[in-house]
Amino acid sequence: MTSLTDEYSLLAPGPVNLHPEVRKALALPMIHHRTPEFDKILKRVLAGIKTVFQTNEEVYLLTATGSGGMEALLVNILSPGDKVIAIVSGKFGERWAEMAKTFGANVLTIDVPWGETVKVSDVEELLKKNPDTRAVLCQACETSTAVAHPIKDIAAVVKNYSETLFLVDAITALGAYEIPMDAWGIDGIVAGSQKAFMLPTGMAFVAYSQKAWKFVDQAKCPRFYFDLRKEKKANGAGETFYSSNVAIIRALDVVLNLINAQGLDKLFHDIHRRAEFTRQFGQKLGFTLYAKSPSDSVTALVVPPQMDGQKIRLHLEQVHNITIMGGQDQAKGKIIRIGHMGYIRDYEQVRLIECLGHTLRHFDPDFMSLEHVSNIAQEAKNYLEQNP
Ligand SMILES: *Cc1c(COP(=O)(O)O)cnc(C)c1O
Repeated sequence: MTSLTDEYSLLAPGPVNLHPEVRKALALPMIHHRTPEFDKILKRVLAGIKTVFQTNEEVYLLTATGSGGMEALLVNILSPGDKVIAIVSGKFGERWAEMAKTFGANVLTIDVPWGETVKVSDVEELLKKNPDTRAVLCQACETSTAVAHPIKDIAAVVKNYSETLFLVDAITALGAYEIPMDAWGIDGIVAGSQKAFMLPTGMAFVAYSQKAWKFVDQAKCPRFYFDLRKEKKANGAGETFYSSNVAIIRALDVVLNLINAQGLDKLFHDIHRRAEFTRQFGQKLGFTLYAKSPSDSVTALVVPPQMDGQKIRLHLEQVHNITIMGGQDQAKGKIIRIGHMGYIRDYEQVRLIECLGHTLRHFDPDFMSLEHVSNIAQEAKNYLEQNP
């Protein structure tokens, strides 16, 4: 794998291809985080990131992977014994439920079959029986199944409970499609640097609503590194509490400039277009869609019955220099997952479809003819030209 060449495509649902300007920013000489030069950048970033969160609340920049942000959202509002409703529809839902249990919460799960979307009425019913619930946890997009959950509708239900907070893991949603924190009434939200924010792995971005902040002082879960009160105070003074992640924050400044220059609508349009394209041409190649309500940020394709998804992804990487992901746990071998976030050019999408066709033929030459693969690739190219 010659991953250092430009011919390498990272089409996973995070990490993702980096924009050339982001790569440039990452190569700059290091500066100290307590300098007027960095203060200016941080100030701009703290203001600019609110636009992507679509919030008036402060957004906190944590040096941790997305899971650290998920932990921060929990420990700052929970006390041991608190009731939590966790919607579990895949790997990341499982992780958040387990995390809440680890911190002593009394976790009630709503188990959703993989590939399906949670029923809002199930959340409504469980909340009605448990009005003393402190938090409802849900992934906006469950990356392991590529399902998008009805966040707006769940938020509208939770809003009726003054003691209950709606926490959303939007790590593969915020910055990929519409999820306006304030307008929908989301109480806690987390985004991740290596997903929709198109940066290297290593930062989580979190925000709380006013309703959530009311619970922060009374929360009794142990917290030190992720105590958001420290960050709140530091942000107010134009700093981060711990050493700032200068490299990624500087690159985030570039990403926010790129996003704000084109507007959120254009960003979402591009990602939606890639998702539509992949859903359409994946099916033309003989795959089917795994998610009943597919997210725009990632597409999960069920591989033809005689094929192995793990082998497909490995072959694609080793022979064609394209990285996508396979399935996890019960979906292992059955699906492949293709990300639509990050810096993806049209020709990379066409190349993916063409190389997927070649890969299917590698494992089963009778699956489709070479001519058929070329025809689909040509059609794919035309589609993107005709649908800018
Ligand atoms: C990637 C991801 C995470 C966090 O993973 P990290 O490896 O900790 O960055 C959490 N939730 C979802 C939905 C994700 O896609």
